[in-house]
Amino acid sequence: MNSLAKRLGITLVLLLMMFGVGHWFKQPAVLTEDALTVAPLLNPVIEVRLMSLSGSKPIPVQIAGRWKILDGSKPGHPLLHPGSGGFEGSLFIDSTGPQLGPYRTNSEHIIVETEAEEALWLDTFLYPGKLHIRTVREKTGRVSRLDLSLEMPLEDYVMGVVCGEMSSMQAGVHDALCAQAIAARTYALQKRGSKRGLRDDTFDQVFLGLDYRTTQAEAAIEATRGLVLQWEQALVPAFFHASCGGGTANAMEAGFSKKDLAPLSGTLEPACRTPRGIWEREVSAEKLDGLARRYRIGEWLQGISTIERDASGRLLEVRLLGDEEHEDLAGERLRAALSLPSMQLIEVEVQPDGSAIFRGHGFGHGIGMCQTGAVRMSRGGSTFQDILQHYYPGAELVPLTSELRYLLPPLQ
Ligand SMILES: [Zn+2]
Repeated sequence: MNSLAKRLGITLVLLLMMFGVGHWFKQPAVLTEDALTVAPLLNPVIEVRLMSLSGSKPIPVQIAGRWKILDGSKPGHPLLHPGSGGFEGSLFIDSTGPQLGPYRTNSEHIIVETEAEEALWLDTFLYPGKLHIRTVREKTGRVSRLDLSLEMPLEDYVMGVVCGEMSSMQAGVHDALCAQAIAARTYALQKRGSKRGLRDDTFDQVFLGLDYRTTQAEAAIEATRGLVLQWEQALVPAFFHASCGGGTANAMEAGFSKKDLAPLSGTLEPACRTPRGIWEREVSAEKLDGLARRYRIGEWLQGISTIERDASGRLLEVRLLGDEEHEDLAGERLRAALSLPSMQLIEVEVQPDGSAIFRGHGFGHGIGMCQTGAVRMSRGGSTFQDILQHYYPGAELVPLTSELRYLLPPLQ
């Protein structure tokens, strides 16, 4: 019997709406802005992970003006000071470690520092800050990869995120860009102390180089310099996503937080659910049956049923039905496994070849600020304070001054 016949034997049940209502009553928002503060604003250093380099494929590197290579374990001690002529060449893996053009070292951590502020190009991107190159070895001592990251002041990083996460050259989006800058600044600081670090892609926040700066993004950074979101004497994990598809999610219910956080409790947003916004994704029979094998519930996936949806329709928990057993898992895990845009699913259509077409609303995990909604609010005349109050209810907007140093998690 082929997978189609097996799968058609059981209906895919994805339209059971099981609404929970408890957390949809928002707490009153307490947004305050202490503009009269006299303590200096902090602009701490942020490190963002770029790509990892493995194998023999080199990365083009260009440096303008004076530069040097420092030993990461002894900052302040240059390993090399090549002079003022700049550099143009490639970074690649040598048998002993990293090799930058003719320069090689067996140091496990080196830092490339430029004298001028905007002088480092990596694989066509112009980047701010210092480049860290860390060597990762196999047990045998052989180099397996080089991990690259950039260290820069927080506000430079926020600029790269605002340009990477939002289209800034549209009319009427200034307050959405301001809200994005504050969310990005808060999220980055909150992640600053984590062992995993901060990635430069959608896993954390998309960070683009300096070439993508716009005057609109610069205006948003300037208008919000140093402002962060706090709740109960701590930084808010200020998640955001492209489109909520009808409502944002409760972070604890969706598995993004161990405790219930009022600013991430979720809110309904029917304007983000439009017929024009419905997406469609085809998932192969092979991939669907692969799920059954991965979770050891049989050879075939016969159906997916809903266990729990939130008030906006997002699947929080689903049951995978294999030909032998079943497995319950969080909606977000199914989304990741099948590379679906969101878990605001509306239907699944099984095809004659055993594949299935998934249809739904929204893009992203649905936690925190909805960028589509933020742009809509901004164009409708809302201020960035209104936008943040809507998506992070109860959060306080505070300037990150030396008096609020307690907000900064210690570096690992
Ligand atoms: Zn939305």
